[in-house]
Amino acid sequence: MIPYARQSIDEDDIAAVAAVLRSDFLTQGPSVAHFEELVARYCGVEHAVAVNSATSALHISCLALGVGPGDLVWTSPNSFVASANCARCCGADVDFVDIDPGTYNMSVGELHRKLEGARATGRLPKAVVVVDFAGQPADLAGVALLAQEFGFRVIEDASHAIGAAYRGRPVGCGAYADITVFSFHPVKIITTAEGGMAVCNDASLAQRLQRLRTNGITRDPALMETAHEPWEYEQIELGFNYRLTDVQAALGAAQFSRLDEFVERRREIAARYDRELSDLPLVLPFQHEDARSSYHLYPVRVRPESGLTRRGVYDALRARGVAPNVHYIPIHTQPYYRRLGFRDGDFPHAETYYRETLSLPMYAGLDAERQGHVIAALHAVFGGSNKP
Ligand SMILES: *Cc1c(COP(=O)(O)O)cnc(C)c1O
Repeated sequence: MIPYARQSIDEDDIAAVAAVLRSDFLTQGPSVAHFEELVARYCGVEHAVAVNSATSALHISCLALGVGPGDLVWTSPNSFVASANCARCCGADVDFVDIDPGTYNMSVGELHRKLEGARATGRLPKAVVVVDFAGQPADLAGVALLAQEFGFRVIEDASHAIGAAYRGRPVGCGAYADITVFSFHPVKIITTAEGGMAVCNDASLAQRLQRLRTNGITRDPALMETAHEPWEYEQIELGFNYRLTDVQAALGAAQFSRLDEFVERRREIAARYDRELSDLPLVLPFQHEDARSSYHLYPVRVRPESGLTRRGVYDALRARGVAPNVHYIPIHTQPYYRRLGFRDGDFPHAETYYRETLSLPMYAGLDAERQGHVIAALHAVFGGSNKP
């Protein structure tokens, strides 16, 4: 089976991990600091805080921005559940903003409309989690303008988008979002097995994130109330153990040295799909001119006019050794969110998109022969020629 995603691990990655295992620090030592610095420098941002997953990064980002009980957080329904759960974990309420049917990212027109309504009823969101779906940056400038006008904070969930660019600058540059979050899960662009990072330009936010990942503990004398002995630390708020290990960070730094190569390879794969699937009754991923996607995913839509269903294409591809996936089941249709009152039909663009979408194999290690097999399988499924 050709999977939809897969990590690329080489001998340098393995050697980097082995070196840490032979060193003095297994967790939160020099490798974490080094990995953070590499990512911060690449993004052109002041601060980077590595944690054990993007889910954790989203959670402490909400907390650091002051999200709590009684607050409201909005996100895109077309995302992984963590984009919404982060707010629920802080005791806040969640609502969604429907997607743009072209980019599948949060629609800024819809966001504006919903903000006007919320202002009228006096319940504006405290924060909006904007997702760079499939690696294509969302309309970040549009969201940032609305954030100024309506006074909310912006968390960019760039779990798909490390190595992508928006208006010529790297995702995570800090110009559009208060905090940007990356994921290093094995299906993502680079991996630390499990891992994530939050980047920002605000020193006090970064300090807060660092504290929340370490049980709310500080060793900064300026922040301590009474401690003065050299061994003393103070817990000044409630936090978690969300630390990334040095073993993982060493893998992350080694992977990071190939980030641009990985993204370039993904973009080549996308360009070939664009060319060789263009005659099939599929909607291929539209790219906005502001965005340079990292192509975490290559989602295609099976239109009803094609005479085939999404499930039919899914099964037929699997029968031919290709394992596509589906991104995403709209978050508001998950049982947990239905119990909070969300219904089918609440976010129709996300729901229609979901019914038609399939994510084709897309990863840096997908070689030309295997991609040719995927393309030939699709042509066969739609009854065309087998020629790529
Ligand atoms: C993968 C993903 C996450 C969660 O990442 P983890 O590192 O697995 O916690 C969050 N948001 C989006 C959009 C993702 O794709």
